[in-house]
Amino acid sequence: MLLEGYTYAHEHTTIDLSSLKKVEDTNLNCFKQTIEEYKELYDKGVRNVIDVTVRGMKRNPEYVKKVAEASGINIVQSTGWYQDKFLPEYIETSTVEELAAMMVKDITVGIDNSEVKASLIGEIGTSKNQMTDRERKVFEASVLAHKETGVPITTHTTLGTFGKEQVEFFKSKDIELNKVVIGHVDLTGDVEYVLSLLREGVYVEFDTIGKENYMPDQTRVEMLKKIIEEGFEDKIFLSMDITRRSHLKANGGLGYAYLLDTFVPLMRKNDISEPIIEKMLSHNPRAFYK
Ligand SMILES: [Zn+2]
Repeated sequence: MLLEGYTYAHEHTTIDLSSLKKVEDTNLNCFKQTIEEYKELYDKGVRNVIDVTVRGMKRNPEYVKKVAEASGINIVQSTGWYQDKFLPEYIETSTVEELAAMMVKDITVGIDNSEVKASLIGEIGTSKNQMTDRERKVFEASVLAHKETGVPITTHTTLGTFGKEQVEFFKSKDIELNKVVIGHVDLTGDVEYVLSLLREGVYVEFDTIGKENYMPDQTRVEMLKKIIEEGFEDKIFLSMDITRRSHLKANGGLGYAYLLDTFVPLMRKNDISEPIIEKMLSHNPRAFYK
């Protein structure tokens, strides 16, 4: 499913959370600028972007397909629903089986009746320190869709919380944990917590790189060093989770290339070796998204 080369494991080519956030900046639909930045990524060796935009985020498979074609990057698209406050009302009135069938259709037929098939489930999410009933329903439906199709599951944790409970949930449903990646764990700043997830067999994402208002990148690097020391370097993916217009270079933001241009040198400076950097950027996502 993935091409040889680097993979950004958790991005949103286009996403609109402005109906709830009430900030126009959260409507990321900068078609031209995104293509420019994706082309720049391509020149730097990026071949895959995992697009984790699900229902309730104004998912737009045709738009994403056009960006893929124009930039040369293989953008993998997704199905599912996000965390509670972005869930549509029908989550309550539909059965788990009906929700699962919607996901299976995205995977086997095409997303929202397009020809673009979803290749993963998620980011499916939990709220801060809790999994609401509606979120649990999405998780249950995701388990059914995963069991029927075999596609992997990627999750959203709010500020890294409830990752442990997500893992427990998947365990209780007999999901193979090496088919699950827990998102945003870098936002915990708590490496012991992340290690406790890894010991269960899941993958984890350091996917908010560059968002230093949430967590300094130096802390991310120190967490990574400890995780590598403990022997889990095969279980980590990297990404930036760019979601706002102001994150793009043309609008004064860091831009996607920051991960490669600034964060990778920071890892090197902190003695993370080249083969391990290659693993996190290239080998690991390819092993997971087979
Ligand atoms: Zn997220």
